[in-house]
Amino acid sequence: MQIIKQIQTAVTDQLPGNGINRQDSIETTLYACPKCSTTYIASEMDRCPECQATLDVVPSGAELGITE
Ligand SMILES: [Zn+2]
Repeated sequence: MQIIKQIQTAVTDQLPGNGINRQDSIETTLYACPKCSTTYIASEMDRCPECQATLDVVPSGAELGITE
C-alpha cells in the first residue's frame, strides 16, 4: 500500500469520458520515493522531504490510466 502525498494544491481532477479537459497548463509529476514508499505529486521535486532520498519519476500517463 502506497502513501500518496499531494504537494501542490492545484492538481486538476481526472475527468472521465472523452479526452482530457485541461483548463490550465499546470503539469504535475508523480515522484516515488524508493526508501519510504511514498508517492509525491508535485511540479518539481528532486529529493524526498522525509528521508532525502533521490526520487524516481513515475510516468504520469500510466499512473492516471491514460493510454492515448
Ligand atoms: Zn522517502
